[in-house]
Amino acid sequence: RSVTPNSRTLSNNNNNDEDSGRVRVAVRIRPRNAEDLVLDADFADFVELQPELKRLKLRKNNWSSESYRFDEVFTETASQRRVYEVVAKPVVESVLDGYNGTVMAYGQTGTGKTYTVGRLGKEDASERGIMVRALEDVIACTSLTSDSVEVSYVQLYMESIQDLFTPEKINIPIYEDSKTGEVSLPGATVVKVRDLDHFLELLQVGEANRHAANTKLNTESSRSHAILMVYVRRSIQENVNEITSQQKDTRTDLLGSSIPMVRKSKLLIVDLAGSERIDKSGSEGALLEEAKFINLSLTSLGKCINALAENSPHIPTRDSKLTRLLRDSFGGSARTSLIVTIGPSARHHAETTSTIMFGQRAMKIVNMVKLKEEYDYESLCRKLETQVDQLTAEIER
Ligand code: ADP
Ligand code: MG
Repeated sequence: RSVTPNSRTLSNNNNNDEDSGRVRVAVRIRPRNAEDLVLDADFADFVELQPELKRLKLRKNNWSSESYRFDEVFTETASQRRVYEVVAKPVVESVLDGYNGTVMAYGQTGTGKTYTVGRLGKEDASERGIMVRALEDVIACTSLTSDSVEVSYVQLYMESIQDLFTPEKINIPIYEDSKTGEVSLPGATVVKVRDLDHFLELLQVGEANRHAANTKLNTESSRSHAILMVYVRRSIQENVNEITSQQKDTRTDLLGSSIPMVRKSKLLIVDLAGSERIDKSGSEGALLEEAKFINLSLTSLGKCINALAENSPHIPTRDSKLTRLLRDSFGGSARTSLIVTIGPSARHHAETTSTIMFGQRAMKIVNMVKLKEEYDYESLCRKLETQVDQLTAEIER
């Protein structure tokens, strides 16, 4: 099983197909669990799925319901594999082609965000979530010696970014390149991934650290955002002229051979904090203030999505750490796919409705996807150094 790089179709797409950069949104419903079965006995069904029409209906009252269309609607029997292939794989392929990409899960706590995105599937590989499957595909396609895959894994809680590989590192600053607008976390540990087993180990360490950190802070992980950053570096060795539509003149080095090109792209995989309102539990005073702060990033993301969906001239991306990190993902140059997760229970109709509305607004956002390609001066330097060494050796002989 391998990913076929489809650079041609993608670069030809550019901006003519206005749908090409639109944020894709899928809905997934969690299967009923024992608790739902007991507590829902008195409720009529609230959600009706019509997967073949990619539609979902929410019952408003006894005689009417509202219908919503998505890019995909997954029923409770949808496999992890299918969810990956529909939601994340197109983004992963795009990242391998040199575009930035984002895959993000949004929804109420307990609806399956972590199951969908972060599941390790140690015992049963068929249960693997999006992070593992994405890395599997990325690793398979970065086989040249000058290619590389590096990851950072952080959590964002109360506007502080904590390294999940080195949990002592907290309050990691966000760096924004003033020229390219590229956002990164230079203070976070970056690990070069050797193979899939190595990545599974890393993810497991990250999860353990996340759990330990949250136990220490006496919070649930449902309050924090987990963000996996994957830095992909791929050199382009053949057909440079053909693939590189942007640069017509191919530069040559001192000895006349063409300078190799490199594509550096970034994949973000985000398991967001639970979208439920914290004030639901009736917190007051100082607690409420804390609650607002905990949710600042998520509230801020909602505001940005609204502003973008309404074509507002001002998008308040600077208001929170999350929206700064995701600046390229919504209204930027990345290819973005969002999966919203809902529970099957009518008890949660208010949260389910608000999740669906969030997804509907996100569907209106169109990104201007851009290829991240540059001359590979690092490789060139290495090559020239070898050439100089060879020439020096020849002269000395
Ligand atoms: P969240 O991260 O949104 O809070 P979780 O991913 O932790 O939710 O899911 C809550 C529970 O439901 C977990 O026990 C998880 O294994 C289970 N679950 C969620 N989605 C599915 C699914 N599609 N199939 C089977 N179990 C699921
Ligand atoms: Mg979770």
